[in-house]
Order: sequence, then structure tokens, then C-alpha cells
Amino acid sequence: MNPSDNIILLGSLNTEFKTLEAMVHIYCRDHHSETTLCASCDDFLHYAKMRLDRCPYGEAKPTCRQCPIHCYKSDYKLQSQTIMRYSGPRMLLKHPILAIRHLLAEKRPVPGKPEANASNRHKRKMME
Ligand SMILES: [Zn+2]
Repeated sequence: MNPSDNIILLGSLNTEFKTLEAMVHIYCRDHHSETTLCASCDDFLHYAKMRLDRCPYGEAKPTCRQCPIHCYKSDYKLQSQTIMRYSGPRMLLKHPILAIRHLLAEKRPVPGKPEANASNRHKRKMME
């Protein structure tokens, strides 16, 4: 059980997480483990979920590629690039709806400064 397991992501953040999850699974199955996620990919996914939870844009978040903030630590950033490069092109076949949604999101204008208290984390805490 990882502390990120009980984080609930709202709306588009959850969709983005599902997209990421699918990409990590594609990558891990072809490179590390055919059954369950290996420890390294599992760790990456938890890290990514935590970043989504804390993203100051919240649901107005631009795609990571477009984002002016770039919040990942360098090791995770590298891991993310490796996974995206491999799984990106494969997503259209395996998860066309998620893939197309993400491609459309890349066309949206990038928001300016995030609004105050927009993060998923902040909203979660308010609901507690
Ligand atoms: Zn793996």
C-alpha cells in the first residue's frame, strides 16, 4: 500500500492519470515484467500521481509537454521521457480514446498563471 493509493483525482486529472497508467503498463510489459508492474514503474506511477495531485493548475492543467512549470525531479523526468517515447505511438492502437483526448488537450491554449488554491490536493483537503 502506497500513500498515493487513497488519493482521489478529480475529473480531467483522473483522466490524465488513467492515460499515464496505460502508458506505464505498455512500457513495463514490453521491457520489465509481463504480469504486474515492476517496482520501478510502480514507484514512477505513484510519483506521477502525487505530482498530478499537487499540480497548481488543478483541472486547468495543460499537458505536461506544454506546461511552463516542469515539476518532475530529473530522474523521474528522464523515466517519463523514456516511457512516453515508447508508449506514445502505441497508445493510439491500444487506447484510442485516451490517446485522442490527450492529443486534443495538446492543442488547447496554455493557461497563464495558475489560480490560487486550484490544486487537486487543496480541494481534497477542503472536502475532508
Ligand atoms: Zn517496469
